[in-house]
Amino acid sequence: MIVDITNEKLDRTFQYRVPEEMEERIVPGVEVEIPFGRGDRLIRGYVVETTDRPAYDPVKIKSIKQIVPGRVPIESRLIALAAWMRERYGSTMIQALKTVIPIKKEIKAQKKRLIRLNLSADQTQAYLDELNRKHCTARARLVQELIHQPELNYELVTKKLHITPAVIKALEEQGILCIQTEQLYRNPVRPAERQEKRVVLNDQQQAVVDQVTEDWGRGFRRTYLVHGVTGSGKTEVYMEIIARVVADGQQAIVLIPEIALTFQTVLRFYQRFGDRISIMNSRLSAGERYDQFERAKNKEISVMIGPRSALFTPFPNLGVVIIDEEHELTYKSENVPRYHARDVAIHRAETEGAMVVLGSATPSVDSYYKALRGEFGLFRLTDRAKKNALPHVYVEDLREELRSGNRSIFSARLQELLQDRLLKKEQVMLFLNRRGYAGFVSCRSCGHVMKCPHCDVSLSMHNHGRLVCHYCGYEEPAVKKCPECGSPYIGGFRAGTQQIEELLKKQYPEAGVLRMDADTTRNKDGHEKILAAFANREADILIGTQMIVKGHDFPAVTLVGVIAADLSLYTGDYLSSERTFQLLTQAAGRAGRGDVPGEVVIQTYQPEHYAVVTAAAQNYEEFYQQEILYRTISGYPPAAHLLAVLLSGADQEELSQAADVLIQQVPRDLEGLTVIGPAEPAVARINDIYKKVIYLKHKKYDTLTEVKDHLERFAKEQPLLEKINMQFDFNPMHAG
Ligand code: ADP
Ligand code: ZN
Ligand code: ZN
Repeated sequence: MIVDITNEKLDRTFQYRVPEEMEERIVPGVEVEIPFGRGDRLIRGYVVETTDRPAYDPVKIKSIKQIVPGRVPIESRLIALAAWMRERYGSTMIQALKTVIPIKKEIKAQKKRLIRLNLSADQTQAYLDELNRKHCTARARLVQELIHQPELNYELVTKKLHITPAVIKALEEQGILCIQTEQLYRNPVRPAERQEKRVVLNDQQQAVVDQVTEDWGRGFRRTYLVHGVTGSGKTEVYMEIIARVVADGQQAIVLIPEIALTFQTVLRFYQRFGDRISIMNSRLSAGERYDQFERAKNKEISVMIGPRSALFTPFPNLGVVIIDEEHELTYKSENVPRYHARDVAIHRAETEGAMVVLGSATPSVDSYYKALRGEFGLFRLTDRAKKNALPHVYVEDLREELRSGNRSIFSARLQELLQDRLLKKEQVMLFLNRRGYAGFVSCRSCGHVMKCPHCDVSLSMHNHGRLVCHYCGYEEPAVKKCPECGSPYIGGFRAGTQQIEELLKKQYPEAGVLRMDADTTRNKDGHEKILAAFANREADILIGTQMIVKGHDFPAVTLVGVIAADLSLYTGDYLSSERTFQLLTQAAGRAGRGDVPGEVVIQTYQPEHYAVVTAAAQNYEEFYQQEILYRTISGYPPAAHLLAVLLSGADQEELSQAADVLIQQVPRDLEGLTVIGPAEPAVARINDIYKKVIYLKHKKYDTLTEVKDHLERFAKEQPLLEKINMQFDFNPMHAG
């Protein structure tokens, strides 16, 4: 089968016969010449899939004329990559192609606005001093930024610096700056002038660069993991490696989670590489995205920075893929094919002769495991480049609080420190590491958590009042008393951001409180407005979920409180400890970014849980050792592989039947294969669509893809499964 020309009409594929002598060379991605249309004029196309099933009368199928000789175009390589993803993750070829190839759209030249400074350097400095005296924080921040960079992109200022249009307008009316509109569709980043301030790498940083560039020079390509604490200078290391690759005429892709893709980060890359960089983010229109990809293909740029999808940038000579914050869940796609950007990056790099550099302060257990086994080169950066001290962490035992008569959700320590910060006019962040309601059931007196006897994950409270395991379907009635200590204080843990806000307002009426969660950020820009207000110190306390701890720097924050570390500890999946460790470490990292050292209070019912203990001690190594033991004993990734077969359908009865039929189809003779389910996922019904899941576990990934292929083939021929949607999720990361 052959797609006409790439882009836009990927669904329109055409069947051609493969001449016998070409059979072995016709694989997805190969560029061929084919007779097309009535006149059989010769055009070029790409092979996307081969099949032995003709779609229409075989005598009418034309033959491929020839394989286009010469260099393999980047399109060929991307189509081959799509074919690999389809096989590895399970999807149709069209779904895989659409993930990999950008949509061609007419490019509308968009008007972009630039902010320029009108004053001389001296005048600006004088004005800035005045603003600081008057505590006009937002204006001062903008002017400060303009001193560094006399021309700024309007969108970047409002979206990333969190400065509101009203502030910009006021400065414009005063004649301090002007706003210019330019017909500038090509490059989303374009500050006027760049001033490089190159740092001198410290020994640890230099060691990484030396090793990687030495391997590069010898033509040796592999994957590296840089385990470096926050602020240890990983970004400087990436830039040095990229500089080498670019100097050799090759290109680099830098993946950064969108939420961490801040103005400051982009500016640093710009200062180093100027117009050779481009960024990709979800705010770009399809047209702009396509345009960026075209520029990459034509080698007009050398460095592409962006979230997961930037991985498919069609650079013709890819040299390196950097994945910053490699542990982030956003690198795993939630759409079919459910690929992990890390694995795809490694595969793409292998086939195109590139290297991969992964970096994180809290590496994923998966990557660290591979690094320790020697699959990846491992480097450690143990010191903060700027030498400010790590914050002091207190772990507060909420069982003790209950025992001493404190029924508030704030421990005595947190209350005391809150009071202190309010007096000193320093800022506080209160962090709820999971949205409103978590399904697990625990004892408030002894901390005991109800777990599945078969899966070693926590049981979830369902609406019908029973406790359910989302992996195997095990159920038991809800308990009224703690089976460990007999305490009646046992139940589902409920605490929402809203309740915390109300409580704070009651207890500290004088404090300014901001809340950031799904409710308050529903409006357009709600997210930006809240962060802007907090950055401008319009409030003393910011309460929020995950979204407040990632990627934002608030220098005036000297206290971070984690309300209940347990909320993310028992999410009913095997990644809960890893996620908790990462969140707690990140939250702790938010305290004391400025000159004043910070303090962190972690409240928990499980102060002895290793994720809490090791996060408080900022000890990754120890966390890893404990976690890998659990994964090995329980047979979870990376010690084994897990495949979730997700089934959904409108008819509950049909879905049940289909799930039962399908599970019968799983080959029983595969040694070491564990089959679990069919079970109900955490959310078993969405919009009247019912869901079921079957889990398969095996040491070898390839065994699971074999089972996947078998189930796919079976489903195609089974009328019962026609109305059922089946998706595959390898090593799932998003709790059901
Ligand atoms: P990470 O990416 O590990 O969080 P960064 O690369 O952002 O760390 O570095 C943190 C800060 O330290 C930045 O402001 C950076 O400019 C600075 N920095 C990094 N390396 C050095 C160095 N060798 N000397 C001085 N400053 C450095
Ligand atoms: Zn108990
Ligand atoms: Zn179970």
